[in-house]
Amino acid sequence: MQGELTKSIARSGLPGGDGAPMTDPFGRAISYLRVSVTDRCDFRCTYCMSENMTFLPRKDLLTLEELDRLCTVFIEKGVKRLRLTGGEPLVRKNIMHFIKGISRHIESGNLDELTLTTNGSQLPKMAEELAANGVRRINISLDTLDADKFRKITRWGNLDRVLAGVDAARKAGMKVKINSVALKGFNDVEIPDIMQWAHGLGMDMTVIETMPMGEIDEDRTDHYLPLSQLRASLSEQFSLVDIPYKTGGPARYVEVAETGGRLGFITPMTHNFCESCNRVRLTCTGTLYMCLGQNDAADLREPLRASDENALLSQAIDNAILRKPKGHDFIIDRENNRPAVARHMSVTGG
Ligand code: SAM
Ligand code: SF4
Repeated sequence: MQGELTKSIARSGLPGGDGAPMTDPFGRAISYLRVSVTDRCDFRCTYCMSENMTFLPRKDLLTLEELDRLCTVFIEKGVKRLRLTGGEPLVRKNIMHFIKGISRHIESGNLDELTLTTNGSQLPKMAEELAANGVRRINISLDTLDADKFRKITRWGNLDRVLAGVDAARKAGMKVKINSVALKGFNDVEIPDIMQWAHGLGMDMTVIETMPMGEIDEDRTDHYLPLSQLRASLSEQFSLVDIPYKTGGPARYVEVAETGGRLGFITPMTHNFCESCNRVRLTCTGTLYMCLGQNDAADLREPLRASDENALLSQAIDNAILRKPKGHDFIIDRENNRPAVARHMSVTGG
Protein backbone atom coordinates (compact mmCIF):
# COMPACT_ATOMS: atom_id res chain seq x y z
CA MET A 1 0.00 0.00 0.00
CA GLN A 2 2.74 2.40 1.06
CA GLY A 3 4.70 1.38 -2.07
CA GLU A 4 1.65 2.07 -4.24
CA LEU A 5 1.25 5.50 -2.66
CA THR A 6 4.91 6.34 -3.15
CA LYS A 7 4.64 5.25 -6.80
CA SER A 8 1.51 7.41 -7.14
CA ILE A 9 3.29 10.40 -5.69
CA ALA A 10 6.25 9.82 -7.98
CA ARG A 11 3.95 9.62 -11.02
CA SER A 12 1.91 12.61 -10.02
CA GLY A 13 3.16 16.14 -10.36
CA LEU A 14 1.98 17.16 -6.89
CA PRO A 15 2.09 19.60 -5.42
CA GLY A 16 1.02 22.42 -7.74
CA GLY A 17 1.65 25.83 -6.18
CA ASP A 18 3.94 27.11 -8.89
CA GLY A 19 0.90 27.46 -11.14
CA ALA A 20 1.58 24.10 -12.83
CA PRO A 21 -1.53 21.91 -12.69
CA MET A 22 -1.82 19.24 -10.02
CA THR A 23 -1.65 15.75 -11.47
CA ASP A 24 -3.50 12.72 -10.17
CA PRO A 25 -2.11 9.17 -9.89
CA PHE A 26 -3.41 8.37 -13.39
CA GLY A 27 -1.47 11.24 -14.94
CA ARG A 28 -4.50 13.50 -15.41
CA ALA A 29 -3.80 17.20 -14.88
CA ILE A 30 -6.40 18.78 -12.58
CA SER A 31 -7.05 22.22 -13.97
CA TYR A 32 -10.81 22.55 -13.58
CA LEU A 33 -12.75 23.20 -10.37
CA ARG A 34 -16.53 23.12 -10.15
CA VAL A 35 -17.96 24.80 -7.12
CA SER A 36 -21.47 24.15 -5.89
CA VAL A 37 -22.04 27.43 -4.05
CA THR A 38 -25.40 26.31 -2.64
CA ASP A 39 -27.46 23.12 -2.69
CA ARG A 40 -30.67 25.18 -2.67
CA CYS A 41 -32.71 26.00 -5.73
CA ASP A 42 -35.79 27.91 -6.86
CA PHE A 43 -36.80 24.92 -9.06
CA ARG A 44 -37.44 21.28 -8.21
CA CYS A 45 -36.63 19.45 -11.46
CA THR A 46 -38.12 16.00 -11.13
CA TYR A 47 -34.97 14.11 -12.23
CA CYS A 48 -32.76 16.17 -9.90
CA MET A 49 -34.69 16.67 -6.66
CA SER A 50 -37.64 15.35 -4.76
CA GLU A 51 -40.38 17.89 -4.10
CA ASN A 52 -39.67 18.03 -0.38
CA MET A 53 -35.93 18.28 -0.25
CA THR A 54 -33.96 18.47 2.94
CA PHE A 55 -31.15 20.93 2.38
CA LEU A 56 -27.86 21.22 4.18
CA PRO A 57 -28.14 23.10 7.47
CA ARG A 58 -27.13 26.75 6.95
CA LYS A 59 -24.67 26.53 9.82
CA ASP A 60 -22.62 23.99 7.82
CA LEU A 61 -22.14 26.33 4.84
CA LEU A 62 -18.84 27.99 4.16
CA THR A 63 -19.07 31.75 4.07
CA LEU A 64 -18.44 33.38 0.72
CA GLU A 65 -15.12 34.67 2.11
CA GLU A 66 -14.12 31.08 2.95
CA LEU A 67 -15.20 29.89 -0.49
CA ASP A 68 -13.11 32.66 -2.05
CA ARG A 69 -10.08 31.58 -0.02
CA LEU A 70 -10.55 27.96 -1.07
CA CYS A 71 -10.95 28.84 -4.75
CA THR A 72 -7.88 31.08 -4.56
CA VAL A 73 -5.76 28.23 -3.18
CA PHE A 74 -6.94 25.97 -6.02
CA ILE A 75 -6.02 28.70 -8.53
CA GLU A 76 -2.58 29.01 -6.94
CA LYS A 77 -2.29 25.24 -7.37
CA GLY A 78 -2.90 25.44 -11.10
CA VAL A 79 -6.67 25.47 -11.57
CA LYS A 80 -7.34 27.51 -14.72
CA ARG A 81 -11.08 27.15 -15.09
CA LEU A 82 -13.73 27.64 -12.46
CA ARG A 83 -17.41 26.85 -12.90
CA LEU A 84 -20.01 27.91 -10.38
CA THR A 85 -22.98 25.63 -10.07
CA GLY A 86 -25.35 24.30 -7.44
CA GLY A 87 -28.30 24.01 -6.66
CA GLU A 88 -28.96 27.28 -8.35
CA PRO A 89 -25.78 29.35 -7.99
CA LEU A 90 -27.54 32.66 -8.60
CA VAL A 91 -29.92 32.27 -5.65
CA ARG A 92 -27.10 32.26 -3.10
CA LYS A 93 -27.22 35.55 -1.19
CA ASN A 94 -24.50 38.01 -2.22
CA ILE A 95 -23.26 35.73 -4.99
CA MET A 96 -22.45 38.72 -7.21
CA HIS A 97 -20.09 40.06 -4.56
CA PHE A 98 -18.31 36.68 -4.56
CA ILE A 99 -18.13 36.63 -8.38
CA LYS A 100 -16.70 40.15 -8.41
CA GLY A 101 -14.03 38.99 -5.99
CA ILE A 102 -13.10 35.93 -8.03
CA SER A 103 -12.91 38.01 -11.21
CA ARG A 104 -9.66 39.51 -9.87
CA HIS A 105 -8.02 36.20 -10.85
CA ILE A 106 -9.25 36.65 -14.43
CA GLU A 107 -7.85 40.17 -14.47
CA SER A 108 -4.49 38.96 -13.14
CA GLY A 109 -4.38 36.21 -15.81
CA ASN A 110 -4.10 33.42 -13.19
CA LEU A 111 -7.55 32.11 -14.10
CA ASP A 112 -8.47 31.56 -17.75
CA GLU A 113 -12.20 31.25 -17.34
CA LEU A 114 -15.02 31.84 -14.88
CA THR A 115 -18.29 30.23 -15.96
CA LEU A 116 -21.65 29.26 -14.55
CA THR A 117 -24.27 26.59 -14.97
CA THR A 118 -27.67 28.05 -14.18
CA ASN A 119 -31.36 27.42 -14.65
CA GLY A 120 -31.58 30.97 -16.04
CA SER A 121 -34.29 32.24 -13.70
CA GLN A 122 -32.16 35.06 -12.24
CA LEU A 123 -30.50 36.11 -15.49
CA PRO A 124 -33.00 38.80 -16.47
CA LYS A 125 -31.69 40.84 -13.55
CA MET A 126 -28.12 39.53 -13.26
CA ALA A 127 -26.80 38.85 -16.76
CA GLU A 128 -25.28 42.27 -17.34
CA GLU A 129 -23.41 42.32 -14.08
CA LEU A 130 -22.12 38.79 -14.66
CA ALA A 131 -20.75 39.81 -18.03
CA ALA A 132 -19.19 42.91 -16.49
CA ASN A 133 -17.43 40.67 -13.97
CA GLY A 134 -15.63 38.43 -16.42
CA VAL A 135 -18.24 35.71 -17.11
CA ARG A 136 -17.95 35.26 -20.86
CA ARG A 137 -19.64 31.87 -21.24
CA ILE A 138 -22.68 30.50 -19.48
CA ASN A 139 -24.59 27.21 -19.60
CA ILE A 140 -28.34 27.49 -19.25
CA SER A 141 -30.32 24.34 -18.51
CA LEU A 142 -33.53 24.02 -20.46
CA ASP A 143 -35.30 20.72 -21.10
CA THR A 144 -38.36 21.87 -23.04
CA LEU A 145 -39.76 24.91 -24.89
CA ASP A 146 -43.34 24.02 -23.97
CA ALA A 147 -44.56 26.14 -21.04
CA ASP A 148 -46.76 23.42 -19.52
CA LYS A 149 -44.11 20.75 -19.83
CA PHE A 150 -41.58 23.18 -18.40
CA ARG A 151 -43.74 23.70 -15.34
CA LYS A 152 -44.16 19.92 -15.04
CA ILE A 153 -40.45 19.07 -15.21
CA THR A 154 -39.20 21.96 -13.02
CA ARG A 155 -42.29 21.86 -10.74
CA TRP A 156 -41.76 25.53 -9.76
CA GLY A 157 -40.19 27.15 -12.84
CA ASN A 158 -41.56 29.63 -15.37
CA LEU A 159 -40.50 29.20 -19.00
CA ASP A 160 -40.99 32.85 -20.01
CA ARG A 161 -38.65 33.98 -17.29
CA VAL A 162 -35.95 31.53 -18.35
CA LEU A 163 -36.34 32.57 -22.00
CA ALA A 164 -35.98 36.20 -20.88
CA GLY A 165 -32.84 35.05 -19.06
CA VAL A 166 -31.45 33.49 -22.25
CA ASP A 167 -32.13 36.77 -24.06
CA ALA A 168 -30.53 38.85 -21.32
CA ALA A 169 -27.38 36.68 -21.36
CA ARG A 170 -27.06 36.98 -25.14
CA LYS A 171 -27.65 40.73 -25.05
CA ALA A 172 -24.99 41.07 -22.37
CA GLY A 173 -22.56 39.47 -24.83
CA MET A 174 -22.12 36.11 -23.09
CA LYS A 175 -21.70 32.97 -25.15
CA VAL A 176 -24.68 30.80 -24.18
CA LYS A 177 -24.88 27.01 -24.33
CA ILE A 178 -28.17 25.25 -23.76
CA ASN A 179 -28.02 22.04 -21.69
CA SER A 180 -30.88 19.55 -21.88
CA VAL A 181 -31.22 16.29 -20.00
CA ALA A 182 -32.60 13.76 -22.49
CA LEU A 183 -35.67 12.11 -21.00
CA LYS A 184 -37.48 9.29 -22.72
CA GLY A 185 -41.21 9.98 -23.08
CA PHE A 186 -40.72 13.60 -22.02
CA ASN A 187 -38.51 15.60 -24.38
CA ASP A 188 -36.99 13.01 -26.75
CA VAL A 189 -39.26 14.02 -29.63
CA GLU A 190 -38.74 17.71 -28.88
CA ILE A 191 -34.94 17.70 -28.91
CA PRO A 192 -34.71 18.45 -32.66
CA ASP A 193 -36.89 21.56 -32.10
CA ILE A 194 -34.87 22.74 -29.11
CA MET A 195 -31.69 22.20 -31.12
CA GLN A 196 -32.99 24.15 -34.12
CA TRP A 197 -34.11 26.98 -31.84
CA ALA A 198 -30.71 27.09 -30.09
CA HIS A 199 -28.72 26.89 -33.31
CA GLY A 200 -30.98 29.48 -34.93
CA LEU A 201 -29.85 31.91 -32.22
CA GLY A 202 -26.20 30.93 -32.57
CA MET A 203 -26.10 28.90 -29.34
CA ASP A 204 -24.47 25.49 -28.94
CA MET A 205 -26.53 22.77 -27.31
CA THR A 206 -25.53 19.79 -25.20
CA VAL A 207 -27.68 16.79 -24.35
CA ILE A 208 -27.01 14.85 -21.16
CA GLU A 209 -27.91 11.32 -20.05
CA THR A 210 -29.76 11.19 -16.76
CA MET A 211 -27.57 9.94 -13.93
CA PRO A 212 -28.64 7.92 -10.88
CA MET A 213 -27.87 10.48 -8.17
CA GLY A 214 -29.99 10.91 -5.05
CA GLU A 215 -33.49 9.72 -4.23
CA ILE A 216 -36.21 11.37 -6.34
CA ASP A 217 -39.97 10.84 -6.38
CA GLU A 218 -40.01 8.74 -9.54
CA ASP A 219 -38.31 5.73 -11.10
CA ARG A 220 -35.38 6.93 -13.22
CA THR A 221 -35.54 3.88 -15.47
CA ASP A 222 -38.86 5.20 -16.83
CA HIS A 223 -37.12 8.17 -18.44
CA TYR A 224 -33.60 6.93 -19.04
CA LEU A 225 -32.62 7.48 -22.66
CA PRO A 226 -29.21 6.29 -23.89
CA LEU A 227 -27.86 9.05 -26.13
CA SER A 228 -26.75 6.46 -28.69
CA GLN A 229 -30.49 6.02 -29.38
CA LEU A 230 -31.07 9.78 -29.56
CA ARG A 231 -28.15 10.18 -31.95
CA ALA A 232 -29.49 7.39 -34.17
CA SER A 233 -32.90 9.02 -34.39
CA LEU A 234 -31.43 12.51 -34.99
CA SER A 235 -29.31 11.03 -37.78
CA GLU A 236 -32.50 10.15 -39.65
CA GLN A 237 -33.31 13.88 -39.94
CA PHE A 238 -29.92 15.58 -39.79
CA SER A 239 -26.35 15.03 -40.99
CA LEU A 240 -24.21 14.84 -37.87
CA VAL A 241 -20.50 15.22 -38.46
CA ASP A 242 -18.09 14.38 -35.61
CA ILE A 243 -15.79 17.31 -34.85
CA PRO A 244 -12.82 17.57 -32.48
CA TYR A 245 -14.29 20.72 -30.81
CA LYS A 246 -13.69 20.77 -27.02
CA THR A 247 -14.73 23.18 -24.30
CA GLY A 248 -12.75 21.44 -21.55
CA GLY A 249 -15.77 19.38 -20.48
CA PRO A 250 -16.73 15.78 -21.23
CA ALA A 251 -19.04 16.51 -24.20
CA ARG A 252 -18.26 15.02 -27.60
CA TYR A 253 -19.45 17.32 -30.35
CA VAL A 254 -20.96 16.99 -33.78
CA GLU A 255 -21.69 19.71 -36.27
CA VAL A 256 -25.20 19.60 -37.65
CA ALA A 257 -24.94 20.29 -41.39
CA GLU A 258 -28.53 21.56 -41.72
CA THR A 259 -28.28 24.15 -38.93
CA GLY A 260 -24.56 24.89 -38.98
CA GLY A 261 -24.63 24.58 -35.15
CA ARG A 262 -22.84 22.33 -32.69
CA LEU A 263 -24.47 19.59 -30.64
CA GLY A 264 -22.63 17.99 -27.72
CA PHE A 265 -23.34 14.61 -26.16
CA ILE A 266 -22.52 13.99 -22.50
CA THR A 267 -22.74 10.26 -22.00
CA PRO A 268 -21.74 9.26 -18.46
CA MET A 269 -23.86 6.13 -18.73
CA THR A 270 -23.14 4.73 -22.19
CA HIS A 271 -19.62 6.01 -22.77
CA ASN A 272 -17.35 6.53 -19.88
CA PHE A 273 -15.21 9.63 -20.44
CA CYS A 274 -13.21 9.36 -17.23
CA GLU A 275 -9.86 8.87 -18.95
CA SER A 276 -9.76 12.57 -19.80
CA CYS A 277 -11.25 13.86 -16.54
CA ASN A 278 -9.53 17.09 -15.50
CA ARG A 279 -11.83 18.18 -12.69
CA VAL A 280 -12.72 18.03 -9.03
CA ARG A 281 -15.84 19.30 -7.31
CA LEU A 282 -16.19 21.40 -4.22
CA THR A 283 -19.45 21.67 -2.27
CA CYS A 284 -20.71 24.67 -0.31
CA THR A 285 -19.69 22.95 2.93
CA GLY A 286 -16.08 22.56 1.80
CA THR A 287 -16.26 18.88 0.86
CA LEU A 288 -14.15 17.98 -2.14
CA TYR A 289 -15.42 15.19 -4.38
CA MET A 290 -12.76 13.81 -6.64
CA CYS A 291 -15.39 12.10 -8.84
CA LEU A 292 -19.04 12.94 -9.50
CA GLY A 293 -19.98 9.26 -9.44
CA GLN A 294 -18.10 8.07 -6.36
CA ASN A 295 -18.62 8.59 -2.65
CA ASP A 296 -15.05 9.25 -1.58
CA ALA A 297 -14.59 12.84 -0.47
CA ALA A 298 -12.14 15.01 1.43
CA ASP A 299 -13.13 17.54 4.05
CA LEU A 300 -11.42 20.87 3.36
CA ARG A 301 -13.43 22.89 5.86
CA GLU A 302 -11.49 21.60 8.83
CA PRO A 303 -8.00 22.49 7.49
CA LEU A 304 -9.43 25.77 6.15
CA ARG A 305 -10.66 26.79 9.59
CA ALA A 306 -7.74 25.32 11.51
CA SER A 307 -5.30 28.01 10.42
CA ASP A 308 -5.15 31.40 8.71
CA GLU A 309 -2.19 30.12 6.72
CA ASN A 310 -2.91 27.93 3.69
CA ALA A 311 -0.30 25.20 4.27
CA LEU A 312 -2.70 22.70 5.91
CA LEU A 313 -5.32 23.33 3.28
CA SER A 314 -2.85 22.92 0.46
CA GLN A 315 -1.66 19.62 1.95
CA ALA A 316 -5.26 18.38 2.33
CA ILE A 317 -5.90 19.19 -1.35
CA ASP A 318 -2.74 17.33 -2.40
CA ASN A 319 -3.79 14.28 -0.37
CA ALA A 320 -7.25 14.38 -1.93
CA ILE A 321 -5.94 14.58 -5.51
CA LEU A 322 -3.86 11.47 -4.83
CA ARG A 323 -7.13 9.65 -4.10
CA LYS A 324 -8.87 10.65 -7.33
CA PRO A 325 -10.36 7.38 -8.62
CA LYS A 326 -9.92 6.10 -12.12
CA GLY A 327 -13.60 6.54 -12.93
CA HIS A 328 -17.25 6.07 -12.10
CA ASP A 329 -19.53 3.15 -12.80
CA PHE A 330 -23.08 4.37 -13.13
CA ILE A 331 -25.71 1.81 -14.12
CA ILE A 332 -29.43 2.38 -14.69
CA ASP A 333 -31.65 -0.61 -15.34
CA ARG A 334 -34.60 -2.26 -13.66
CA GLU A 335 -32.34 -4.38 -11.43
CA ASN A 336 -30.14 -1.40 -10.50
CA ASN A 337 -32.65 1.33 -9.94
CA ARG A 338 -31.17 2.59 -6.68
CA PRO A 339 -29.05 5.75 -6.90
CA ALA A 340 -25.37 4.98 -7.54
CA VAL A 341 -24.55 7.74 -5.08
CA ALA A 342 -26.94 8.91 -2.37
CA ARG A 343 -26.27 12.63 -2.77
CA HIS A 344 -28.31 14.63 -5.24
CA MET A 345 -26.72 16.28 -8.25
CA SER A 346 -27.55 19.61 -6.59
CA VAL A 347 -24.96 18.90 -3.87
CA THR A 348 -22.01 18.38 -6.20
CA GLY A 349 -23.42 20.47 -9.01
CA GLY A 350 -23.44 18.34 -12.18
N1 SAM B 1 -29.40 24.74 -11.17
C1 SAM B 1 -28.43 24.82 -12.22
C2 SAM B 1 -28.98 24.24 -13.50
O1 SAM B 1 -30.01 23.56 -13.46
O2 SAM B 1 -28.34 24.45 -14.53
C3 SAM B 1 -27.09 24.20 -11.89
C4 SAM B 1 -27.09 22.90 -11.14
S1 SAM B 1 -27.81 21.51 -11.99
C5 SAM B 1 -27.58 20.23 -10.80
C6 SAM B 1 -26.58 21.21 -13.25
C7 SAM B 1 -27.02 20.34 -14.39
O3 SAM B 1 -27.22 19.03 -13.92
C8 SAM B 1 -28.31 20.77 -15.06
O4 SAM B 1 -28.09 20.88 -16.46
C9 SAM B 1 -29.27 19.65 -14.76
O5 SAM B 1 -30.19 19.47 -15.80
C10 SAM B 1 -28.34 18.48 -14.61
N2 SAM B 1 -28.85 17.39 -13.78
C11 SAM B 1 -29.46 17.43 -12.58
N3 SAM B 1 -29.74 16.20 -12.11
C12 SAM B 1 -29.29 15.33 -13.05
C13 SAM B 1 -29.27 13.91 -13.16
N4 SAM B 1 -29.73 13.12 -12.21
N5 SAM B 1 -28.70 13.37 -14.28
C14 SAM B 1 -28.18 14.17 -15.26
N6 SAM B 1 -28.16 15.51 -15.21
C15 SAM B 1 -28.72 16.09 -14.12
FE1 SF4 C 1 -32.44 23.18 -9.51
FE2 SF4 C 1 -30.72 22.77 -11.47
FE3 SF4 C 1 -31.58 20.70 -9.97
FE4 SF4 C 1 -33.28 21.87 -11.63
S1 SF4 C 1 -31.42 20.77 -12.21
S2 SF4 C 1 -33.68 21.35 -9.48
S3 SF4 C 1 -32.64 23.94 -11.60
S4 SF4 C 1 -30.36 22.38 -9.29
